[in-house]
Amino acid sequence: MEYRRLGKSGLQVSALSLGSWLTFGQQISDSVADELMGIAYDAGVNFFDNAEGYAAGKSEEVMGKSIKKHKWERESFVVSSKVFFGTEHKGPNRVGLSRKHVIEACNGALKRLQVDYLDLYFCHRPDKNTPIEETVWAMNTLLQQGKILYWGTSEWSAAELMEAIVVAKQYNLIGPTMEQPQYNLIERYKMEKEYLLLFKEYGLGTTIWSPLASGLLSGKYTSGKVKDTRLDLKGMEWLKDAVLNEEKLEKARKLQSLADELNVPLAKLSLAWCLKNPNVSTVILGASKTQQLKENLTTLEVVPLLSTEVMEKIEDIVKTKPVL
Ligand code: NDP
Repeated sequence: MEYRRLGKSGLQVSALSLGSWLTFGQQISDSVADELMGIAYDAGVNFFDNAEGYAAGKSEEVMGKSIKKHKWERESFVVSSKVFFGTEHKGPNRVGLSRKHVIEACNGALKRLQVDYLDLYFCHRPDKNTPIEETVWAMNTLLQQGKILYWGTSEWSAAELMEAIVVAKQYNLIGPTMEQPQYNLIERYKMEKEYLLLFKEYGLGTTIWSPLASGLLSGKYTSGKVKDTRLDLKGMEWLKDAVLNEEKLEKARKLQSLADELNVPLAKLSLAWCLKNPNVSTVILGASKTQQLKENLTTLEVVPLLSTEVMEKIEDIVKTKPVL
């Protein structure tokens, strides 16, 4: 495994990490989730990603039980949670980024994950109804209390991140260390254009989500079959519509031919392409089956195949590079 610094921070995260969205506490059994955790850890994965909103809090419970069962030393792993969407409990102060919810959600995540502190704590989305200043202060309270070690954002605009950085500087507080954006061969704007100044000037780290665009970039949907996948889950019709888009499927077909030429699975080629970007600190893998995870965890061996020529062939197929 390769380890990368989380932006300019001193923390090192495995280049490939494991996330639990849609899988833990939902699509897969707790025993498969536990197996996935073990496979990842044994392969050198040190970062496990979670959120209060995943399976309405159940994902954190499942991950917490697995961490406890494995008896891993606390120093050997990095675990995250995210605040914004709330859990199964509904109410105006059980969502968003108010001081009240940021602090209460952290306490809830600590209980569900059965840990004394979160290594990473993300604002899962921007909250238009809370001043950014309030959230920055709340994060710094948690830092002071030792309940979190680093805080960051997910899917914030560069302008929102800049505001958080400026507020933190104004009060001598700690600003966001990392952002969690979507990044894959289809979705590139934030990582390759919008955040460039934040990487250069502020050393923002990144933990990448949906590197396979929910499985599309493994090539598995080119036949249109969705049985036994996340696109078949109740409530995921919006995702199915987004993934089963003819233009994207055509790109996946062409990428599949290129992967065949290189004699590598398309999933690994797509993940390796994410790792090529030096502004990526870690690529979060998702898996519903142990075989998928085992395959994806060998991605680092594919990175050297991404020569200038292969990268150009990929660009010619996807045509998603943002204009700088
Ligand atoms: P991917 O885009 O990589 O999708 C993972 C899914 O693709 C798997 O669950 C599986 O789906 C399928 N898959 C994976 N490997 C293979 C393979 N080798 N062959 C065929 N199919 C494969 O990542 P996710 O969307 O899961 O995102 C990763 C993590 O990022 C999440 O777990 C979460 O921690 C985080 N995340 C954060 C978000 C945010 O807003 N901050 C949003 C979304 C995710 P299937 O079950 O269908 O087989």
